[in-house]
Amino acid sequence: MTCIDTLLTGDAGNVRALEARPQFQLLRHDVSQPLELGGPVDAVLHFASPASPVDYAAHPIETLEVGTLGTRNLLELAQARGAVFLLASTSEVYGDPLVHPQPETYWGNVNPIGPRGVYDEAKRAAEAFTMAYHRRHGLRTRIARIFNTFGPRMRSNDGRAVPNFITQALAGKALTVYGDGSQTRSLCYVDDLIEGVMRLLACDEPGPVNLGNPQELTMLELARLVKELTGSRSEIAFSPLPVDDPRQRQPDITRARELLEWEPRVAPREGLARTIDWFRSTGR
Ligand code: UDP
Repeated sequence: MTCIDTLLTGDAGNVRALEARPQFQLLRHDVSQPLELGGPVDAVLHFASPASPVDYAAHPIETLEVGTLGTRNLLELAQARGAVFLLASTSEVYGDPLVHPQPETYWGNVNPIGPRGVYDEAKRAAEAFTMAYHRRHGLRTRIARIFNTFGPRMRSNDGRAVPNFITQALAGKALTVYGDGSQTRSLCYVDDLIEGVMRLLACDEPGPVNLGNPQELTMLELARLVKELTGSRSEIAFSPLPVDDPRQRQPDITRARELLEWEPRVAPREGLARTIDWFRSTGR
């Protein structure tokens, strides 16, 4: 297994334990550039991209390139080697959704020129590229539309709500809720997500499948839950909502339930408790 990463937003420490295995290697490479890979290739899983709004605002060109040029390079690799191709897409293709919850048939409400456009439109282009290779070349493709996912090994400073609230609560600092905190997200624990991705890879559905936890909560509820689970006495401080921040988000996972016989098993409360334990034990 070859793991390819620029480590622009990643951390080699996250795969250090895997590097002890002879069949695993970490290759520092930017998939937005053409790549050569020896040996047989059974599957190409394209997860390369900054994924936090703070990160993709800091790296807008890289984000656009990896979603477009990177996707094309990896589709070419899959096609040349007869491999199956899986794209990590996103609930961001639905933008600030006008349909709730979001089924795969919803086309989305995305601002192409806003600060989130670099990620949303790159992933939408990635989906279009993937379907084009499927239709034009008969490539075996999978598209996972991943909703908010969290768990151990997130960067404490990646800017997203879960690592922000946990590190703030553990440090006794104020939890930074943006807007009035009434905007919602649906949080999936990483182990559930990985199970969904592996099942999707093994099925033969070429089109998009939502993967996420339908349990929706407001960001104020999330902040209060993190406070409760950490036992923190931190205050909650409100600051302005970022531009184009989606108001609500909840996956309709009917398709995943039917096709993959999959649904999340770990409730947000349990997943948060495990994530808090990890942040505590690693001192991050
Ligand atoms: N958010 C917040 N405080 C933070 C970080 C994020 O209130 O410190 C809000 C953010 O405005 C958004 C939600 O939490 O409404 C989820 O943000 P995140 O960056 O985790 O993911 P995304 O916006 O990509 O869903």
